Amino acid sequence: MSYDNNNIFAKILRGEIPCKKIYEDKYVLSFHDINPQKKIHALVIPKGNYIDLDDFSEKASPEEMVGLIKGINKVAKKLKISVDTGNGYRALANISEHGGQEVPHLHFHLFGGERVGKMVE
Ligand code: AMP
Repeated sequence: MSYDNNNIFAKILRGEIPCKKIYEDKYVLSFHDINPQKKIHALVIPKGNYIDLDDFSEKASPEEMVGLIKGINKVAKKLKISVDTGNGYRALANISEHGGQEVPHLHFHLFGGERVGKMVE
């Protein structure tokens, strides 16, 4: 499968569709999920064109990998859900069909602001 340049997150990255931005740097963009499942529901996406975590693991540079992991922590701090600023959160990435991934651009969901609950339904 090749990367679909017309997926919704690619359009957000190109500025063609608006988002409620939380944080941005050289490696990541973070914004609020349009359909929040918890009090806080943020998305963190790499700026590079990666379909999912497997694709990212195989093709991303070490700098991009560090940038994404650090980006998640920066967003969690900004939202005051990180361990040092709040009470924790869940980071989750859906991967492909069985993972339930809908948007084919790698993204981490950050859920917090309340107890997140059962890990898998
Ligand atoms: P996934 O099922 O892991 O691919 O999650 C995709 C997520 O993207 C869902 O939680 C959607 O609510 C969210 N989403 C879809 N379109 C937008 C958008 N335009 N802005 C923000 N979040 C979106």
